[in-house]
Amino acid sequence: MSVEILQAMARQGFEEVQAIHHAPSGLRAFLGIHDTTRGPAFGGIRRWAYRDEGDALRDVMRLARSMTHKCALAGLPAGGAKVVILDQAGLDLPAAYRHLGRTVEGLGGRFYTGPDVGTGPRELAELCRETRFATDPGPAGPGQLPEATSEGVFRGMESALRHLDGEEDWPRRTVVVQGLGSVGLRLARRLVGCGARVLASDIDPERAREAAEELSIEILDPTREYEESCDIFAPCALGGILHDLTIPRLRCRIVAGGANNILASPVHGERLHAMDVLYLPDFVINSGALIRGVLFHLEGVREPVEKIGERIGRTSGEILQLARERASLPLSVAGTEAERRAAATAQARG
Ligand code: NAD
Repeated sequence: MSVEILQAMARQGFEEVQAIHHAPSGLRAFLGIHDTTRGPAFGGIRRWAYRDEGDALRDVMRLARSMTHKCALAGLPAGGAKVVILDQAGLDLPAAYRHLGRTVEGLGGRFYTGPDVGTGPRELAELCRETRFATDPGPAGPGQLPEATSEGVFRGMESALRHLDGEEDWPRRTVVVQGLGSVGLRLARRLVGCGARVLASDIDPERAREAAEELSIEILDPTREYEESCDIFAPCALGGILHDLTIPRLRCRIVAGGANNILASPVHGERLHAMDVLYLPDFVINSGALIRGVLFHLEGVREPVEKIGERIGRTSGEILQLARERASLPLSVAGTEAERRAAATAQARG
């Protein structure tokens, strides 16, 4: 098994993958540091009921690499990392997060961490008891992270609409949001505020009901969201949801959302293109939280959400323009640009 991990690390350019086991709390986790060439590595902690260890390991590596791409594209002096916790019954959450906090502290600032699916303010508060290198969810921290993410996704959507139609014209747009959690709910709120028609789904009926009540949006049964006719389909739940079975069901012109790794594989980007659907890659538009966290930790700046949105809107516009000029997919252009920028830094630093 170790040989396979080392081979995968070499193939994908990983610096470090740690397996973490802490018997008193029941914690089983992987920590992946992909690249620190541009600066310390940043990435949140995902807690999820993975099928098995292989599934969790693949996820941590996929997510950490995507964080490196995000940093390079956003022009941040940082690299990518991630932690995944294999969630299970009986896991002592406060003790598990405190143990993780000590592990992060032990890395001495090579790795900064924060929220992700399954890690919210409560878990972060435990983590922050043990380490200086985690995002404080309170007033001592950088400010709301999901707010920065949803604003970036929103501004990315605007670039995509301008790219296709020359204007946003929100009141005549329909957007389907999958997942009404921290990011999806804020995104839905932002879109409703601009006059767009929003339909949404969540596997948690309580969350869906609360969102419908607050925003007067139409709630779709989970899985029906794929078939809904709309301008933009916005995945804001988990990654890997666009694949051979879901793509043919889509009836949208644009896919742009907050979830990490929306496509099951890069080939699915080509399938979307063949159906005339514009896919704006997640790592181009969901970097709002990362930008906020990096600027706070490394430069002591509390970046306003509007400035973060503008920055992401500008990058999205550049990627779409380059894709048009090169007659290529935004996904390929964004990947090439991220690697070109990362390589340029590596070269500059010798
Ligand atoms: P969250 O856990 O707060 O919300 C996720 C929501 O999706 C939950 O309400 C859950 O019930 C729902 N959901 C799960 N599976 C679903 C399905 N199949 N259909 C419909 N709903 C489903 O998480 P979040 O912080 O909002 O993050 C959402 C996504 O955005 C994740 O992929 C995360 O990695 C990514 N992301 C988040 C941030 C951030 O700032 N929070 C930053 C970058 C990327």
